[in-house]
Amino acid sequence: MKDLEAILTRQQARGLYRRRRVSDGPQGPEMRIDGREVLAFCSNDYLGLANHPKVIEAMQAGARRYGAGSGAAHLINGHGRAHHQLEEALAAFSGRPRALLFSTGYMANQGVIGALLGRGDHVIEDRLNHASLIDGATLSRARLHRFAHGDMDALEARLNAIESGEKLIAVDGVFSMDGDIAPLPQLAAAARRHDAWLMVDDAHGMGVLGERGRGSLDAAGLTIDQAPILMATLGKGLGVFGAFIAGSEALIETLIQRARSYIYTTALPPAIAEATRAALALAGDEAWRRDHLFALIKHFRQGAIALGLPLMDSPTPIQPLLTGSAQQALRWSAQLEQAGLLVTPIRPPTVPEGASRLRITLSAAHDEAHVDRLLDGLSQLKPKGEENGR
Ligand SMILES: *Cc1c(COP(=O)(O)O)cnc(C)c1O
Repeated sequence: MKDLEAILTRQQARGLYRRRRVSDGPQGPEMRIDGREVLAFCSNDYLGLANHPKVIEAMQAGARRYGAGSGAAHLINGHGRAHHQLEEALAAFSGRPRALLFSTGYMANQGVIGALLGRGDHVIEDRLNHASLIDGATLSRARLHRFAHGDMDALEARLNAIESGEKLIAVDGVFSMDGDIAPLPQLAAAARRHDAWLMVDDAHGMGVLGERGRGSLDAAGLTIDQAPILMATLGKGLGVFGAFIAGSEALIETLIQRARSYIYTTALPPAIAEATRAALALAGDEAWRRDHLFALIKHFRQGAIALGLPLMDSPTPIQPLLTGSAQQALRWSAQLEQAGLLVTPIRPPTVPEGASRLRITLSAAHDEAHVDRLLDGLSQLKPKGEENGR
């Protein structure tokens, strides 16, 4: 048997140990976490909907009407009016014929890849794709090919080398740890040339990019023919929980027949679907949330550039500061926490070796004074060896 304690000790020594914090109260810029008041810049609640009164009210009304639990899987008798209405709203929102609700984004990615591909087929993925897309490909038994981040020549070379089988190109629409946007028109063109499906995981674009927050495909002007599989999550920009796949009638019916992570699991609580439907309406109607968010992004970037911080090239609410080593990410995160600022360090294997970072995220719930406090905290950060005031 493995010596787990020794393994954990080694992980700690390498600065890669992970631990959880306990927060009290709702998600928002000002949080109480591990008993301390902090200003947080690390949630994915980009529009500030996680604690919105109308969303909470919809969840409460949903629980009163439909109860707490769904009681069964969608294909037994767990698929209720609340789920169905949310699916219709998601289809309308994404401008596609149908949408199918999954309990989580992780499960949606597993479900769709496994339903469409198997042994002898090929999944081609950007190297920086989210873990759930990688795991979905692995579980499908198709061959997984990974190409260098955003490198369309590398993608083309991969596609050229494939001789038989179905092909699916899968990318994050907005890369979760870098914040940059996938070159969607080029990806769609490559997919067309090679008769491959294009699947876009818009966990971080949904609600944030495009008209009414319809996401990165809308922002890039891609149609359902160009990108037949849209996946997005409901627990980030929309502030609640869950995920969906949107596409053609045939795609959704195929998933209902074949997606194992859809079939063999309990339907999510109907009250969550009701809350999400309220959040979706707010996200679409309240363009000011996006306007405000993008004004904050601009303000932050200008300030960070003026300070000479190692800012990455991101146009989205994900604004990472590259530290390189895991230890440096930990040190800076701890220094910020001393100043009452919560920014989590992101380390391997979430990001490649040597690419640790502080993943700063902004939300429409922040105001300019919050961002100024963050910039002030960042301006105090000291390089390695200077922590003791040297
Ligand atoms: C968060 C995330 C997921 C997983 O979604 P959950 O609903 O949290 O399981 C999938 N893809 C990307 C790109 C993500 O960032």
